[in-house]
Amino acid sequence: MKFAIFTKIDKDVSAVEKIVTDACSKKGFVLDKENPDVVFVLGGDGTFLRSIHHYLDKLDSIKFVGVNCGTLGFFYEFGESDVSHIVDIIDRHEYKEESHKLIECDLNDKTIYAANEIRFENPFHTLVCTVTVNGEELEKFHGNGLLVCNELGSTAYNKSLGGAVIAHDIDVLQLTEISTIQNNLFRSLGSSLITNPDSVFTFKGDFSKVVIGYDHLTCDCNGADFIKVRGSNKRVRIIHEQSYSYLSNIKRSFIK
Ligand code: NAP
Ligand code: MN
Repeated sequence: MKFAIFTKIDKDVSAVEKIVTDACSKKGFVLDKENPDVVFVLGGDGTFLRSIHHYLDKLDSIKFVGVNCGTLGFFYEFGESDVSHIVDIIDRHEYKEESHKLIECDLNDKTIYAANEIRFENPFHTLVCTVTVNGEELEKFHGNGLLVCNELGSTAYNKSLGGAVIAHDIDVLQLTEISTIQNNLFRSLGSSLITNPDSVFTFKGDFSKVVIGYDHLTCDCNGADFIKVRGSNKRVRIIHEQSYSYLSNIKRSFIK
C-alpha cells in the first residue's frame, strides 16, 4: 500500500503526521507522495478540498481518508485517536467506500473542477442571465449569482443559501440561487432545482464583472459569455468505517 499525507497549512499538525507515519510503517505501507493509493488528510474540510484539487489528475487510483484536526470537519468521521484503527481497516480492506462525482465547468479554453460547488457571483451589480437545463430554457435570472453543487457540497455554501441537504448515497446536481430579485418585473424559480447528475446547466449573460468560485478557489470568466456546468466523470472516493452513516456527520455538524 502506498500512502501520502496531506496537511492543513495554517496549523501545525506535525504530531498527528508522525502518528500516521508510524502506524503506516508498522503495516509496511510505503510513503509515495506522487502516486499514493491512499491519502491521509489532516485538517478540516478546507484541507480536504485542497487535497482533492492537489490529486485531481489521479483521483481514479486514490482513496482519501480524513483525520480531523480541530475544525468543523464535515467530511471527517475520524480523529487523531483513531489513526491506528484507520490504518488497520485499510490494511484489511474492511471499510466502506463513499464516492462522489465532481462538478465541472468549461471556460473558453480551460475546464475547472469542484468537489463542493461551482458558483458565479456579481456582488456589485445585478447579474442578468438566461438559465438553460439540458438545452431547454428555464428562466431569466436577476440577482447576485447562482451555484451548482453535488450532494457533498449540499451542506456547504448551498446550505447557507437555503438549498436542500442531500443524502450521500445518491448522485445529484443542485442549482441554487444567490440573492435573487423576485418582483413583478423579474421572477425566477425561487427555490433550488435538483436534477440527475448528467444534466448540463448553461448560463448566458454578461459575465465580465463576475467572479467564479469553485471550492476554495476563484477565477474570472476568461472573457466567456456563457458558462456551462455539468457533472464530471471524475469521482472522489472517501474511506469510512463499515458502519458509517452520513446522517451521523449531519447530526454532529449541524444539530448537536
Ligand atoms: P472556509 O471559509 O473555512 O469554509 C467555510 C465553512 O464551511 C468551514 O467551516 C468549512 O469547514 C465548511 N465546509 C466546507 N465544505 C463543507 C461541506 N461540504 N459541508 C459542510 N461544511 C463544509 O473555506 P474553506 O475551508 O476553504 O472551504 C471552501 C468552501 O467554503 C466552499 O466550497 C464553500 O462551500 C464554502 N463557503 C461558504 C460560504 C457560506 O456558507 N456563506 C461562503 C463562501 C464559501 P472547515 O472549518 O472544516 O474547513
Ligand atoms: Mn476551512
